[in-house]
Amino acid sequence: MDRGRAGPGPRGAEERAVIDEPLLKVLVCPACKTKVLHQGDSLVCQNPDCGLRYPIRDDIPVMIIDEAEKPPARNGPKGG
Ligand SMILES: [Zn+2]
Repeated sequence: MDRGRAGPGPRGAEERAVIDEPLLKVLVCPACKTKVLHQGDSLVCQNPDCGLRYPIRDDIPVMIIDEAEKPPARNGPKGG
């Protein structure tokens, strides 16, 4: 059993945005009201039909549709 997990590790941890967990739990995509997931320095809508990426600036998620990045287009248009 390891005690005292706190402490600097040998591996260099990259600095990245940190979002409060309680805050994440209440955050939803303003476009579709789906929960978002913290990925790197952005929050990603978990709705596959939406998938907007919201940037995090100064540790503050910018939940604005106009500021969000749209997901890359799906590969290959359907023939029709
Ligand atoms: Zn969404």
